[in-house]
Amino acid sequence: MEFRLAPHEEALRQEAHEWLIAELGTDHDSDPRPMPPGYMPARDFERKLGAKGWLALSWPKEYGGGGRPIKEQFLVEKEVALHGGPASDAMSRVIVAPLLMHAATEEQKQRYLPEMARGEATFCLGYSEPGSGSDLASLETKAVRDGDDYVINGRKIWTSGAESSDYCWLAARTDPESSRHAGISMFVVPMKQPGIEIRPIVNLLDKHWFNEVVFEDVRVSVAERIGGEGEGWSLLGSALGVERITIYRAYVHWRTLVGAVRRAKANGAEGWSHRVRQKVGGLRVEYEIAELLLERAVQMHTEDREYRGQAAMVKLFNTEFAQRLYETSLSLLGLYGPLTENDPRAPYEGATSHNFLSAVQETIGAGTSEVQRDLIAIRALGLPRG
Ligand SMILES: Cc1cc2nc3c(=O)[nH]c(=O)nc-3n(C[C@H](O)[C@H](O)[C@H](O)COP(=O)(O)OP(=O)(O)OC[C@H]3O[C@@H](n4cnc5c(N)ncnc54)[C@H](O)[C@@H]3O)c2cc1C
Repeated sequence: MEFRLAPHEEALRQEAHEWLIAELGTDHDSDPRPMPPGYMPARDFERKLGAKGWLALSWPKEYGGGGRPIKEQFLVEKEVALHGGPASDAMSRVIVAPLLMHAATEEQKQRYLPEMARGEATFCLGYSEPGSGSDLASLETKAVRDGDDYVINGRKIWTSGAESSDYCWLAARTDPESSRHAGISMFVVPMKQPGIEIRPIVNLLDKHWFNEVVFEDVRVSVAERIGGEGEGWSLLGSALGVERITIYRAYVHWRTLVGAVRRAKANGAEGWSHRVRQKVGGLRVEYEIAELLLERAVQMHTEDREYRGQAAMVKLFNTEFAQRLYETSLSLLGLYGPLTENDPRAPYEGATSHNFLSAVQETIGAGTSEVQRDLIAIRALGLPRG
């Protein structure tokens, strides 16, 4: 693998670096700040990145992209993360867009992709239901054909950012007689319409980051179905777009690691106890591993190799590493550590306690750690399904 940047890549990195210093006033080693989760965009910042052409660098030009290699997209996203930039919209650009590129009609691509490349369209993901999480094939939401429309009825849960999304990327059962994987179809459902009720769910941080979404006789045109009727499952499970693994980038944790080291030094002799050295040294190695796991996944994607097992390793390792990192960081902050961002005495504006709590959910969302281990066994090691 080639880790060095080519001159044009370094030039792009430098341009992004300077732009971010001017825009955010931060650098790689600035103090950490409380982060929103990696799938909720800050709209204004997102639009600025879109205007620079940095949201869709690797997309084809005809859909508003830059037609550049995926590595360049990663370069920019790494810089944004190192500068503590707000999360980029993982839902629409990272998860939905690659699926649209693969399965949508030309008309549908033109309708959605350029808007997404500019950072102007947000999506939430309508997968999980009260009785269907890891076992998504058991979903019960129905979309029944009625003339040129489908009529949707059902309940989705844990729908991140539904309250601020323009569209829902929805999985629904179009064949009422079907069970399991057959009979599921995918839709783009405009969120601002009658029949959609968004009920907030408050999480561990006392934040309203996800919701229950109820669909009651919601009409969606046949033109909003993506892919063939009943072909939703193969779309959901396809190995499209390495972009989706960028949700779990170690880079977003770099400044916490830097902050932990800074704090340990500030604690003086006590801070440099054997225990602290052991923990911080170990975390630094783990950061490196998380970064390399991602680099390898990108490389495998570039070489058109099956990378789903590798992507599961990225997700599993990165999210569990984050929990270990924030636990150690919190302990280094002493008694003020657990204070939240609302308290002026909170170190790093409450970033560490905020991110400590936020890291809990990351090993559940987008597939639990147990599910990732299963995927690694099946996809990367070739073990049989149980
Ligand atoms: C922060 C966050 C954001 C989310 N955002 C969204 C969103 O935007 N849209 C959306 O649709 N969903 C979202 N989800 C839901 C998420 O996808 C599910 O929570 C997740 O897939 C697990 O499903 P579940 O909660 O029903 O748990 P279950 O599937 O019921 O799992 C319960 C336990 O059983 C274990 N388990 C289940 N199956 C297996 C297996 N085969 N092998 C071993 N162990 C197993 C799990 O690991 C877990 O410990 C979000 C979740 C979180 C935490």
